[in-house]
Amino acid sequence: MRTGFPDFRLGSVLATSFTGTLSERHGTPVERIPTPQRLIDWLAVYGLAVDSCTTAQLEFARELRESIHAAATAAALQDSLPASAVHVINDHSTRGRAAAILTPEGGRRWQLGDPASGVEDALGVIAADAIAVIAGERDGKLALCASPTCRAAFFDTSRSRTRRWCDMNTCGNREKKARFYASRRMNHTAKQ
Ligand SMILES: [Zn+2]
Repeated sequence: MRTGFPDFRLGSVLATSFTGTLSERHGTPVERIPTPQRLIDWLAVYGLAVDSCTTAQLEFARELRESIHAAATAAALQDSLPASAVHVINDHSTRGRAAAILTPEGGRRWQLGDPASGVEDALGVIAADAIAVIAGERDGKLALCASPTCRAAFFDTSRSRTRRWCDMNTCGNREKKARFYASRRMNHTAKQ
């Protein structure tokens, strides 16, 4: 789907995929949900389809996103959680009225409340996911991306817990390329 907007980075963990809709926080930030429609598109990918989204709801979503990012970063560093971030996450979690539905095939889907509050309900699901991850209820470990311009908090579910980048295709690749060119330069200098 070509939309003229930055592509989504789709991870398997809802909460940290959501924080990944803003990347390069320590470089030149890339906003991947710049418009309400892009938030609608992103939510649909994660089974949280909503009919509409207002500018205010988009702002609300970004507030939750940055709060999850702040709390997850603190958790990864084993710092105490910022109180304001905890407050925002809990506020969204209690406000949402989504229900988990067991499908006949044995899967799970989310049923959101009435159309006007769809975004709030979807954000409630994301907030609850963030709580599960930060509280250490899920199998994995919060870590920070090794890229100095990124430093995104991600959830490492690798067996060895040694994943270094939030996203292999972007941050990981860039770092590998940088190392490759640096080593070529070094070889070149050594030959002279
Ligand atoms: Zn990264």
